[in-house]
Amino acid sequence: MVRAVFLDRDGVINRKAPEGCYVTRWTQVKFLPGGAAAVKRIREAGFQVIVVSNQRAVAKKLISETELEFLHLRMWQEFFRGEKGFDAVYCCQHDDDPPCECRKPQPGMLLTAARDRGIDLGASWMVGDSESDVLAGRRAGCRTIRIGSPDIRSSTGADAVAESLTQAVNVILASETMGAGDHSNESPVVGLASISS
Ligand SMILES: [Mg+2]
Ligand SMILES: [Zn+2]
Repeated sequence: MVRAVFLDRDGVINRKAPEGCYVTRWTQVKFLPGGAAAVKRIREAGFQVIVVSNQRAVAKKLISETELEFLHLRMWQEFFRGEKGFDAVYCCQHDDDPPCECRKPQPGMLLTAARDRGIDLGASWMVGDSESDVLAGRRAGCRTIRIGSPDIRSSTGADAVAESLTQAVNVILASETMGAGDHSNESPVVGLASISS
């Protein structure tokens, strides 16, 4: 059984751009602290680590598909510094109109990854800083963690809220030990709101 932790990019791996702006250049990339170590811990727990990112800056012609690929090459090189990188990176390059199946909150990228790589979505997690990440994860059948301050707890449909990727990984690993591989219960982590989908 292949399990994955899906990660949003902006706001999880690197700082997100101000509202209405996009990270399209290397000089705009500011990594959030602890990210590479957190990814390594996810991998050591036996998960694939896959980025699923909305990049409508491509549709808006603020960055080309090739430039985005080069930006990512540079980002991952600096982020991992020689350690093994992400297992896969999926980007939706469409704008929200006309609607596509891959732009989060649609689950298309997760479903495609599952098909490509034989991932058991019910045993996988989606981690993101927006409610659209949470929705995409839930629609795909994953458990979800929203990154943000504790006050979003009342307004999110996520299984858990974490203040950083490091904290999110703590939640996932705690669930591993407590759930002991049995995913028939929806929320093995004590204190998590249960999903009612
Ligand atoms: Mg984000
Ligand atoms: Zn799309």
